[in-house]
Amino acid sequence: MTKRVFFFGGGKAEGDPARRDVLGGKGAGLAEMTGLGLPVPPGFTIAAEVSTAFAHTQRVPDDVRREVEVALGRLEETAGARLGDPAAPLLVSVRSGARASMPGMMDTILNLGMNDAVAAGLAARTRDRRFAFDAYRRFIAMHATVALGVDREPFDQAIEQARARTAAALGVDRSRLNAEELRRRVPDSAIEAGELERLTATYKEIVRRKSGREFPDDPREQLWQAIEAVFRSWNNHRAIVYRRMHEIPDDWGTACNVQAMVFGNLDERSASGVAFTRDPSTGDRHLYGEWLPNAQGEDVVAGTRTPLPIRSAAAAKGASDDSLQARMPEAYRELERVATTLERHFRDMQDLEFTIQSGNLFMLQCRSAKRTAHAAVRVAVAMVNEGLITRDEAILRVDPGSVDQLLHPTLDPRAPKRLLARGLPASPGAACGYIVFDADEAEKRSQHGKPVILVRIETSPEDIHGVKAARGILTARGGMTSHAAVVARGMGKPCVAGASALAVNYQAQSVTVTVYDDSGRPAETVTLKKGDVITLDGGTGGIYAGEVPTVSAALSGEFGELVAWADGLRSLKVRANADTPIDARTARAFGAEGVGLCRTEHMFFDEKRIEAMREMILADDTAGRQAALDKLLPFQRTDFVGIFREMSGLPVTIRLLDPPLHEFLPTEARQLEQLSKIMGVPLERIAQRTKELHEFNPMLGHRGCRLAITYPEIYAMQSRAIFEAAIELQKEGVDVHAEIMIPLAISRAELERTRAIVEAAAKDVFERSGASAAYTFGTMIELPRAALLAGELAQVAEFFSFGTNDLTQATMGLSRDDAGKFLPVYVQTGILPKDPFVSIDRPGVGALVELGAERGRRERANLKVGVCGEHGGDPDSIRFFHDVGLDYVSCSPFRVPAARLAAAQAVLLARGRAVDKKRD
Ligand code: PEP
Ligand code: MG
Repeated sequence: MTKRVFFFGGGKAEGDPARRDVLGGKGAGLAEMTGLGLPVPPGFTIAAEVSTAFAHTQRVPDDVRREVEVALGRLEETAGARLGDPAAPLLVSVRSGARASMPGMMDTILNLGMNDAVAAGLAARTRDRRFAFDAYRRFIAMHATVALGVDREPFDQAIEQARARTAAALGVDRSRLNAEELRRRVPDSAIEAGELERLTATYKEIVRRKSGREFPDDPREQLWQAIEAVFRSWNNHRAIVYRRMHEIPDDWGTACNVQAMVFGNLDERSASGVAFTRDPSTGDRHLYGEWLPNAQGEDVVAGTRTPLPIRSAAAAKGASDDSLQARMPEAYRELERVATTLERHFRDMQDLEFTIQSGNLFMLQCRSAKRTAHAAVRVAVAMVNEGLITRDEAILRVDPGSVDQLLHPTLDPRAPKRLLARGLPASPGAACGYIVFDADEAEKRSQHGKPVILVRIETSPEDIHGVKAARGILTARGGMTSHAAVVARGMGKPCVAGASALAVNYQAQSVTVTVYDDSGRPAETVTLKKGDVITLDGGTGGIYAGEVPTVSAALSGEFGELVAWADGLRSLKVRANADTPIDARTARAFGAEGVGLCRTEHMFFDEKRIEAMREMILADDTAGRQAALDKLLPFQRTDFVGIFREMSGLPVTIRLLDPPLHEFLPTEARQLEQLSKIMGVPLERIAQRTKELHEFNPMLGHRGCRLAITYPEIYAMQSRAIFEAAIELQKEGVDVHAEIMIPLAISRAELERTRAIVEAAAKDVFERSGASAAYTFGTMIELPRAALLAGELAQVAEFFSFGTNDLTQATMGLSRDDAGKFLPVYVQTGILPKDPFVSIDRPGVGALVELGAERGRRERANLKVGVCGEHGGDPDSIRFFHDVGLDYVSCSPFRVPAARLAAAQAVLLARGRAVDKKRD
């Protein structure tokens, strides 16, 4: 029989920590720490596969139940306490824990095993009635909401009433205090034992009223309800959303951990906290985290009390030093020791949960820490320098999908800004947008294309869709490890958390803040409403009024170093898609090894040029078209001069005109009238021409090289501009490598004709100027026929560039413009693993790429083959392009460093596969 319940305790763990698929991340961490001899309260883990079985039958199988009973017996023995025994009560936590970390997405129940008799017993044993009933009332509320499906609100109301009575007893005048201020004046810890005991009765009454059943007194019944609730939470809404976002398979399921409780709320020498072995925002090498004295773990992460810093140096300037280091130095040192042991053992930065019970440290969790891209890069490089990992490992440690945030703009330091307040710098980057106060609204507005900033008192896992939709997150409460901070960091979204100067009013849909002057005196009170614009700086915690301009970052420091290591490994070259000299310069600064795609049509949308373009389109004959093209030629030449200059010494692939001509004509009646006036062409003529150009399927219509088959003068002008630019620059000593590329070809004949146009232009320019310029002629492969006939095309083309955007559209029959309406459902339901316009569809489109490259090269051995569709910047697709032996990928300038990293990872992963194969 397969074992499905794994005990840990007394320095030994039954489960194999390497089997995260069985134990889940939390269970694996607990097993590992137990094995390392670290202080971990004993417990047992129920395997994740049980959750999958539960999802089908809504029952825990009988044999698993029996295993749980056996493990519980061992736990009772190890802990010297028994579930439900008032004389020596065992209380347990019941926690979820999937293979991949899903912070806060699933359920947890603490203090399980409580009933009236146990509470009385615990009170007698600890000589602390307050503690016993505090634990009891917490348990009832948690168990009721998580396992019995009762709403949280009536419990919150009941405790607020208890607080009000306590305030009255303490003589606190409540009339001038809002709820938040009252909570500060009369914290939970001020509520007396008697009041808490009454609260447990009230809570049970709430359960009776709301659920129609009694709160279970039997700890065994509680335990099974809790285990089932944990398994059920795998399929709650927020967990499902999180899984979709992070591509976590539904069938992984969650393990369930049952563990003896230790109490961070036992006395003043008790505490709970979370810590990172290094700073998760910056990667700095020191303990980083938050704690709360006399509290249970949930209090720290829930954001309901603002936690204190762990390290002394992080304590607020001027304020008393409330750090763990200052208040409990011994426990702090012990935590440092544990952190070092774990980092050495895992050779990676860890995220820890701990509880201190009467001065003794207990570890409740360790896992590989989520970190910002900035920290990921710095930690990877630092660990190489510390001798913990190799360079290759460092390259594999950094997710290329996340590093483009390092190159994202930050606030322009010179721009005038109006600082409203500061919060915690919870996740770096600058974000600007319209204020919204609710997650649904954030989602709705961003779907309409509006950038929004989600402003909340605190976020909860229910807000995840809003966090995802927003450009940035701002919370008034909670620390660096609050839900908002953790989730935003995971998504690479700017977040400012715990900005306590903000008074958020959901009802009024407004946020009020007192702004202080330089001397620290309150200067004014500002109220911002829904729809007002603010800017966040997640790197400093700054909150600014209005829109603040941003500047782009440079590729330097550790990131530059890591990418340089990557360059030493990769074989795939990385180019950039750049249509302007500025793009080309940015791309080169980020390490692009050429331009893989210059879309020339973008050059025609400029106000001055579009007129000539329209003139060309409206011309009745070749002479008219030629006259208009003559006007465009100098513009084109200037563009090419700029780009060639920036890319001196490197190849520049220029794609000749591609889009259907109607894209250059206006569509609205008013604009048509204006055009008629400007151009002196009768409105009817324009209307007629527009009608002529109308196509039902423009993407499959008169575009690409088909334009040049009917209007050869267009490509002739573009070629001329390229050659004139090249010759002009060569005179200045610029090293030009022009590659002329034909879009949307499907036949050799098209390439022969277009090549003839290009060659004629070259000959003419060379003869007139008495100089010449080397160039190559190639084609995009954007249609399945082109891939299939690649051999023939390679007879004319000297290079191929796969236009995987069009190739995906045409191969899968998915419109690039319209598929967004239904494609997400295909991905959500698992029909397609990913959006095929983002990540290459390996079995379909990918197969055509492989086949096209192979057939092309068979015809022309030195055929250069690249990719310039969006997939050229997608790490997963890059791995595929490496595996099928392409020469280069081309992507947007900001993605170049990530592509360099992904290309190196592709080499390492391929090596890893080769080693595995040998082993098999
Ligand atoms: C492509 O189709 O992949 C491509 C790069 O061209 P465009 O996106 O301009 O159609
Ligand atoms: Mg295309």
